[in-house]
Amino acid sequence: MAFDPRDVEICVGAEAPTPEPTGTPIVPPIVQTSLFAFPTLDDLLTGLGAEHRHSVYSRGQNPTVEVLEDQLAALERGAACKCFASGMAAISAALLGLLEAGDHVLFVNQVYGPTLQLAAELERFGITHDVVLDLELGTIENALRPTTRLIWCESPGTMLFRTLDLEALTALARGRGILTAIDNTWATPLLQKPLTLGFDLVLHALSKYIGGHSDVIGGALVGSSELLEKLFYRAFLLLGGILPPFDAWLVVRGLRTLPIRLRQHQESALAIARHLTQHPAIGRVWHPGLEPALPTTLSGTSGLFSFELADGSFDAVRGMVDRLRLFRIGVSWGGPESLVIAPNRGDNTATLQAHGIPGGLIRLSVGLEPAERLIDDLDQALAEVA
Ligand SMILES: *Cc1c(COP(=O)(O)O)cnc(C)c1O
Repeated sequence: MAFDPRDVEICVGAEAPTPEPTGTPIVPPIVQTSLFAFPTLDDLLTGLGAEHRHSVYSRGQNPTVEVLEDQLAALERGAACKCFASGMAAISAALLGLLEAGDHVLFVNQVYGPTLQLAAELERFGITHDVVLDLELGTIENALRPTTRLIWCESPGTMLFRTLDLEALTALARGRGILTAIDNTWATPLLQKPLTLGFDLVLHALSKYIGGHSDVIGGALVGSSELLEKLFYRAFLLLGGILPPFDAWLVVRGLRTLPIRLRQHQESALAIARHLTQHPAIGRVWHPGLEPALPTTLSGTSGLFSFELADGSFDAVRGMVDRLRLFRIGVSWGGPESLVIAPNRGDNTATLQAHGIPGGLIRLSVGLEPAERLIDDLDQALAEVA
């Protein structure tokens, strides 16, 4: 086989021209490259000297991902953001990057299940934790230990969507030199900006509302430049859970419609939640928008909430979920399609009790379908329960 050497160079891309655009693309390009080449060795060394700021290798920084990170940092009013392969990759990096053996973490409110599973694994490395479900400040304060390094919370919390006094919590932590982090996935930065309330770190699962189309998994951490730089070198770069450029591009696309989607999710979910409060088969509806007053830190509500069947048995829950037609049965949430899930698995009563979750709980992710059609679907499924 004989090739013209020039042809081989063309194939490798040595001669590939870099087109000079006459205009600016309205959508950021997908920079699908593993590495970046530099004019001189000195330039490469400068890049390697500050990989959190320079695109050198896409396991560190990548321009498409950086576009998304800049947008998320700006939305949260934070100085810096790092994106990850998933929400859990971001949570893992946060815990592994911030904690030392001997440290204690206090989880406040119902927290995303896998976060607690990860905390249980970290016991092997000498990191302990407790969970506080009673949201009184005094109870939280009593659960702190001399070794508490981090308070991690969710508000509204997972499954029951109870809210916390976030400013009181950060004031308590600051007084004792404890770091604070919040999973802000439910509210998105449009409805709640925890860094402005004194939090050190904000987590987002981009897989939910921010991506918004049920087609991408990603996570993000937002905070000060100092904290994010520490997390970049101590965890992100070494754990390797990067958000690929194409996935970052999908999230950037999702962000563009987030305000209008959230408005619709809020309106439909509130209409459905109010309707459900009237139903005799339902014990309680867990939606922060139904409380007498929404916390002032929350400028609106999203589309994920739950309700409790008066009959908390697994059979009642399974029957109700299986009768739904428009609501699809599945995990995750925040996409255009409505989803239903129930934490009761028929054999996990002890776990549910430990997490303060009632047996009859059913969680709805209200999508973008017409609310009246979703209400009809719930009504027909509830007709047999009553
Ligand atoms: C989904 C979710 C996560 C984890 O995100 P993944 O992308 O699935 O890893 C974390 N917190 C909350 C509240 C979530 O709903």
